[in-house]
Parts: sequence; structure tokens; C-alpha cells
Amino acid sequence: MTTDNVRMWTDLNIDLKSHDMLLNALGPIFQEVYLSQKNRPAGMGFYDFVVGDIHGIRVKELREHAKTGGKVVATYCVFVPEELVWAAGAIPVGLCAGTQFSVPMAEEVLPRNTCALIKSSFGFKLGRVCPYVQASHLIVGETTCDGKKKMFEILNQYQPVYVMEVPNKKTERSRTLWHGEVVAFKDVIEKLTGNKITPKKLAEAIDLVNGRRLALQRLYNLRKVRPVPISGKDALLATQVSFYDDAARDTQMLNTLCDELDKRVAAGQGVAPANAPRILISGSPMAIPNWKLHHIIESAGAVVVCEESCTGTRFFSDLVKPTPHNLEQQLTAIADRYMNIHCACFTPNDERPDDVVRLAKEYQVDGVIHYNLQFCHTYANEGYKMAERLEKEGIPMLRIETDYSDEDAGQLRTRIEAFLEMIKH
Ligand code: SF4
Ligand code: SF4
Repeated sequence: MTTDNVRMWTDLNIDLKSHDMLLNALGPIFQEVYLSQKNRPAGMGFYDFVVGDIHGIRVKELREHAKTGGKVVATYCVFVPEELVWAAGAIPVGLCAGTQFSVPMAEEVLPRNTCALIKSSFGFKLGRVCPYVQASHLIVGETTCDGKKKMFEILNQYQPVYVMEVPNKKTERSRTLWHGEVVAFKDVIEKLTGNKITPKKLAEAIDLVNGRRLALQRLYNLRKVRPVPISGKDALLATQVSFYDDAARDTQMLNTLCDELDKRVAAGQGVAPANAPRILISGSPMAIPNWKLHHIIESAGAVVVCEESCTGTRFFSDLVKPTPHNLEQQLTAIADRYMNIHCACFTPNDERPDDVVRLAKEYQVDGVIHYNLQFCHTYANEGYKMAERLEKEGIPMLRIETDYSDEDAGQLRTRIEAFLEMIKH
């Protein structure tokens, strides 16, 4: 912990005592979950370094940006079109909220029967323990689920929050509404930054974000190989870091990692035996440092080869389609791309089971673990239709409902081991 960092956190009005506790708790967990893994790609060194200084260097970069008049825009959901933020010269940061640490803080205000992701994010603000929240000029929320949209109203009492309306259906009327939301968001960002979003700037931002999506696609494609060259935990970490690192640097680091994985694949080198059970996780997002499920699965001898989630394929599968440099067409292409995220907030959402079936085949999985955070009603309910569909396809599925605490770890381990035993070749 450098004196510079402590000064920066003090400037950001961080509660230093709680913050120390948070960072002190993270170190041993990271050691146990990540650094104890064998045969890791050297390219993961960058991500270990990022986590090792999780509230240092990147926050400093955001502060430097702010000193020159730049804005930082924090988001909680992959529906917020980050291209518009970059195009206006601001920096988007996907906030994490994957730790139990901040949950009790939130429970002083929010109902206990709220999902851990909402409680964790709100607790970060209430407890003043997240420098990314503190460094942001605007938080952008969305109406994807009831818990979040009502939490944003309270959060707005602490820090400016702008909420985008995400429709619940995929009809033409909904698309028109969403298109209007994207245009309105452009105006909000222009007003915040004082910068006009030009077609040229927007085209550059589209290329920037698409570049990162392509790098993530490359990483996930490499996970289709048997034996798999990277653990699910490492791939998840690389994905989680993409939410807040600089997009250009992130793309470069991901591609460097993939170059190394290409060589592993050519040499037939994997992180687990070729016959290790291959698991696809589908469901709620896993914000950093939520590594609980991956750790249990991989400690039991299986490998997670794909995540159908917003910290997985839903984050990068679709690109914004190329258009002429014309604002209207670019905004339509952006709106179309984001409307095609198959989040359980939509009804109906049959595209998601379709995706899972397709991914299960592409990644040669032996089983699917459907993961939903406790009190996340959209994913919990969708789990029923998912189970029906996968049964029809003959794909084994295990349903897990959990939170961020470790209380159920023993029980989860037993259930997962039994599932792996059942699907073993
Ligand atoms: S699961 Fe839905 S609400 Fe949550 S981050 Fe993804 S798109 Fe947003
Ligand atoms: S996990 Fe579910 S309940 Fe929690 S924020 Fe996401 S959609 Fe809402």
C-alpha cells in the first residue's frame, strides 16, 4: 500500500479502515483461488498484477483523466452502450460488486431478500469502500430488474444516477423505445462531458469496443479445444478485468494471452486432462471477485469452458455492425446490437436456451450448471424453461442458487461432485 494510494483514497473520501479490511481479505482469497493453480499461462501475470493493485493504478489513471477535465462514467450492466461514453472522451467503468464484504452494509437500507449483486454494489457506495464509484462523475443504471431500478432511486441520493429504460419485450415497439433511450443517452453524455459526439469519434469508439469483443471471442474460441489451454477461473478473471481496464490496453493483453494459448493448443498442452468433465455455466453475472462457483467446480477436477452470462458470452458475442459514418445509422446499429443481449429481463427470452444449446455443442460440454443468485427472480424462473429445453436435448443440467457468502460452500461442493460423477465418461 503506497503513500500515494492512501492519499488518493483519502481524496476520494474512502473509509480507509473498511477499505483496508476489504483489501486484506482479498489477498488470501486470490492466493488460494488463483495463485495456487498449476500450469497457468504466463499471460495471466498481467491480470494477477491488476488484481494485486486493484484500487491503485487504474484509479490513478481515472483521476489523471479527471484532472484534465475528463469524465468517468460508472455502469452496472452490459446494456449501457459504452461506445457513446468513449466517443465523448469519457471513460466507462463497469463496477464490480462481487463481494460479500459490502452486503451487510447494504442490508441496513435495502431489504435482505435482494440479490447479492445489488446489495454488494449499493454497499460499496454506502460504506465508501470502492474508489471506482467514488471517482465516477455519473452512474448509469437501467431498468433491467425491479431490485436494481428501485436501488438506483436510493443510490441517486448519494451520487448522480441516470437510468436507461430497458424494455421487457423484443417487439418493434420495444425496439423503438430502446432506440430513443440510446439517443437520449447520447445527449446525457454530451451534456456531462461538454463534448459533441461526431460520426468520426463514434466510429472510432465502435472500432475500439468491437476490437475488445473480438479479442474476447478469440479467447473463448480457444476454450473450445480439448484439452482446454486455460482454466475457467483464469478466463473469467480476464473477462472481469475487461469491465474496467482501458479498452485498447485490454485488447492488447487479451491478444497476447491468446498468442500464448495458440502455442499451447498447437503443442496439445492443457490445464486439465483431456477427459476432465467440461462445464458450461449459464445464468447471473459473476462480478469480480465472485469466483466461488468456478473454484468449487475446478477444485473437484472439472474445467469450466464457457460462461453464458454477462461476464461471459453475452458481453462480447455480438459486434456493432459497420455503418457509414452517419450518426443516425450508427446509433441504430448500436441500439440493435444491445437489444440482442439475451438477458432474462426479457419476456419471452427463448433465444437464451437456444444459445446455451448451441454453446454446449460448440464447447463440447459434458454438463451445464445453471447459476442464479438468490432472490434473482428472472434467472431463477428462466431456470425452469432452461431445464426443460436441455432435458429435451439430452444435456445434463444442475441448478444452483447461491449468494456471495461461503455458508453454503460445503453443500455446493457435495452437489457439484455428485453431478460430475454422474456426467463422467
Ligand atoms: S444479467 Fe441482465 S441485468 Fe444483469 S448485467 Fe446482464 S444484461 Fe444487465
Ligand atoms: S442478478 Fe438478477 S436480481 Fe441481481 S441485479 Fe442481476 S437481474 Fe437483478
